[in-house]
Amino acid sequence: MADLIKLLPDHVANQIAAGEVVQRPASVVKELLENAIDAGAGTIMLIVRDGGKALIQVVDDGIGMSATDARLSFERHATSKIQKAEDLFQLNTKGFRGEALASIAAIAHVEMQTKLENEELGTVLKIEGSKIISQEVGATAKGTSMAVKNLFFNIPARRNFLKSNQVELRHITDEFHRVALAHPNIAFHFHNNGSEMFNLPKSNHRQRIVNVFGTKTNQKLVPVTEETQVVKISGFINKPEFAKKSRGEQFFFVNHRFIKSPYLHHAVVAAFEGLIKPNTYPGYFLYLEVDPASIDINIHPTKTEVKFDDEHTLYAILRSTLKHSLGQFNVVPALDFEQDQNLETPYAYKDKAAQLPRVTVDSGFNPFQERESKTQNRASYRKVGTEAGKSWEGLYAGLESEIGKEVSFSSMQFESDTITGSVFDEQKESLESTSTTFQLRRKYVVTTIKSGMIVIDQSRAHQRVLYEKFLKNITIQKAVSQQLLFPLSLSFSPSDITILEDIRESLTTIGFIFSKMESETVEIKGVPVQVSESEVGMVLDQLISDFQMEISGDGFSQTDILAKTLAKTLSVKTGEILEQESQIALVNDLFACKEAMVSPFNKPVYITITENDIDKKFI
Ligand code: ADP
Ligand code: MG
Repeated sequence: MADLIKLLPDHVANQIAAGEVVQRPASVVKELLENAIDAGAGTIMLIVRDGGKALIQVVDDGIGMSATDARLSFERHATSKIQKAEDLFQLNTKGFRGEALASIAAIAHVEMQTKLENEELGTVLKIEGSKIISQEVGATAKGTSMAVKNLFFNIPARRNFLKSNQVELRHITDEFHRVALAHPNIAFHFHNNGSEMFNLPKSNHRQRIVNVFGTKTNQKLVPVTEETQVVKISGFINKPEFAKKSRGEQFFFVNHRFIKSPYLHHAVVAAFEGLIKPNTYPGYFLYLEVDPASIDINIHPTKTEVKFDDEHTLYAILRSTLKHSLGQFNVVPALDFEQDQNLETPYAYKDKAAQLPRVTVDSGFNPFQERESKTQNRASYRKVGTEAGKSWEGLYAGLESEIGKEVSFSSMQFESDTITGSVFDEQKESLESTSTTFQLRRKYVVTTIKSGMIVIDQSRAHQRVLYEKFLKNITIQKAVSQQLLFPLSLSFSPSDITILEDIRESLTTIGFIFSKMESETVEIKGVPVQVSESEVGMVLDQLISDFQMEISGDGFSQTDILAKTLAKTLSVKTGEILEQESQIALVNDLFACKEAMVSPFNKPVYITITENDIDKKFI
């Protein structure tokens, strides 16, 4: 039988290696930025077009390459960073595998310009799919510019697999954040489709964090420092009260390299124990320095996972250091005389002249007139306490069309911010008309049906109700907006703003009215009636974090994520007491839903226990 085994041609081997190194445009960004840092750059510019699909360019002012090195750098296993296996244990550079450029050149159109500092002329090199198209001598700037165009041009399957430009851009931004945060001593510029996204001057760690995540970040940071024989820890943790519902701002750097470590993350969470609410996450920016010989960064091709020699010790040190920092922060005197008074004013009221409160009396109001139960809020079953009675006059744009003519204005003022145009006004009477309800352990609503009884998970049921309501609002585009008396001004990081911009249109269809959306500020004039003013920040935070998660891509539509997030955030939770009236409303609304059986997250909403089931228990 003939011999079957053949050596793969280089360009094929490179394409296969590329599959490991380059998953998406963000991977290219990471490799190119790291090469620029390894080259000792003082300023690095990142230029991206169409989510990196059309162009990714990194320009640095580092050491550059000779003509020979320029050519060699695209060979597989070509690296200037290690020579022998032992070097792996003393790594001070980001790269060492020597396969990034070879892989990228195998699956894209690459143009490199590079020049050594002392040379007069540099090299201009073009490669397409591992094939050298041209190599010329040219007048170029000191340092290196790498332009990567048409990524995956020769692997259509991979190209089609890429997500939308916005999602890819978010991945790139995440990668950029990580690199920029790890190297505050390098200036970074980031342009996307011709506009500047970041301009980060050379600075210290704290300033870099603030420049990346917005001025508001500064007040959140608690410094952390510790030096032991095993590890040097520096950086910042966010004050506990700023813990977020999203995992957004969590960064570990080991020897200036961003890493993911669930184990060390756990140490941080443990230090925050008891200080933050359940299901919220502390933000942190922690820089660890350890002996390079005590870690192995070689276990993952994209190099974000690290193996430490002595994880347990590291865990213990980290936890106690953070506890100590948090403790110090807590003993800071509560009265700070130096503080700028303006900081104490809530954002919404900043720069606003104080107004005399106005009391409006409804002359047509008759206390003996029975309230029409139809106007009652069916979406928010909570008892409204102090929130009620907020200024209501003229705040409900478009409400008339939604609620219908029969609702008199006077009856609305009872409900104030809880009034909603219920989608479920025409409820089907699927339950026994005589049925009663009761709440079990602040978690379930129990009610009787003809064949026995059903036990409803209150939170999931409400999620289902809200979810269908929001979906409907989005589809018919007729959401009811609640105009705010004063526009609400909220601060976000620039990358959060990009996400909000992406979903702005959908947010508008459900009732948000934005009057401004800028680099760090969002001004809101109107909110959906289901959302109270105090909840707006939380809702938007949650949305941002859910859309960030969507990056990992389970392919749900924007609308669907939006409706799910709002349902999750605004629903009645386990532990909340529901009045009898609310229980009944919830049950009725639930059974008016299209899919009452499951929550938007595919969890069962209720179970049925028949008389038969009960009888059996008594045998
Ligand atoms: P690695 O970074 O693992 O060595 P790469 O394929 O990323 O492998 O790069 C190959 C080599 O090309 C590097 O070792 C370095 O010598 C050279 N190189 C790549 N990018 C640059 C740059 N921006 N400036 C100077 N040299 C570079
Ligand atoms: Mg490299």
